[in-house]
Amino acid sequence: FIIPDWSGFTKHIEDFYWKCKTNTEGKVASYIPQLARMNPEYWGVSVCTIDGQRFSIGDTSIPFTLQSCSKPLTYAIALDRLGPEVVHQYVGQEPSGRNFNELVLDYGKKPHNPMINAGAILICSLLKTLIKPEMGLAEKFDFTMNCFKRLAGGENLGFNNAVFLSEREAADRNYALGFYMREHKCYPEKTNLQEVMDFYFQCCAMEANCETMAVMAATLANGGICPVTEEKVLKPDSVRDVLSLMHSCGMYDYSGQFAFKVGIPAKSGVSGSLLVVIPNVMGICTWSPPLDPLGNSCRGVQFCEELVHEFNFHRYDNL
Ligand code: GLN
Repeated sequence: FIIPDWSGFTKHIEDFYWKCKTNTEGKVASYIPQLARMNPEYWGVSVCTIDGQRFSIGDTSIPFTLQSCSKPLTYAIALDRLGPEVVHQYVGQEPSGRNFNELVLDYGKKPHNPMINAGAILICSLLKTLIKPEMGLAEKFDFTMNCFKRLAGGENLGFNNAVFLSEREAADRNYALGFYMREHKCYPEKTNLQEVMDFYFQCCAMEANCETMAVMAATLANGGICPVTEEKVLKPDSVRDVLSLMHSCGMYDYSGQFAFKVGIPAKSGVSGSLLVVIPNVMGICTWSPPLDPLGNSCRGVQFCEELVHEFNFHRYDNL
């Protein structure tokens, strides 16, 4: 086993869990009612190692919407099918140094990276227009959901239609980003922007729980092979690129500090989820709705800090 003393390890995870539970900082996202209604007390942590050992504590079977945690997944699919040369003609690899939904492109008028809204909308246009272009929106939805499901080892993945509809209603900024990028000819030819926007909201409204998301993180930790089914879902090169950008851009405008203090690739979402990848070791998902001012889950960030305080999982711990 990659973690020989499993019960000793999970004891530590439990300790971190209880420690973070007392953290009552942050505010639940309020831009749509479905998120605003989330109980701030929810707190769950799930772990899945690359050899399939699993542990969960807290609210780990309650579903939440993936939101920005879908961004590394759609990026991974785009890379795997189109290759990095094509994908990165359209989107950069640089932290934006701004908020996740800031109306800004880089100096080449491309979105800064695939982990912020502009970049993720662009990635959706690549998935929609360049991969199996004959598929309509319904089929592309099924295709994408199926890819997410394979990353999760076939475990429960759903779709929250109320969140999808609300997202679409409350999407002025995302539409602004969508049109701004069209103005600058960011999309591949033949892109239908309305379809791309719907597709983006649908990806955000996919639903899973901590247990499922920990398997997805573990698939990334394992170079693209799902540890539960042993299916090869992604190429290792695609996973390498995804993890690189999760490392530098995954935590919104906290990414630089997170890379410094925690040194692990991670991606947060506005529903309070945090996808954490410890390469060649394990995947972790934490979920707790209250967010700090930059949009990251307060308990999730604290959990990661506790984790690297105890274990040498920081990228540069083993020098
Ligand atoms: N649905 C959200 C949005 O587009 C996702 C962003 C996030 O999770 N931070 O604004």
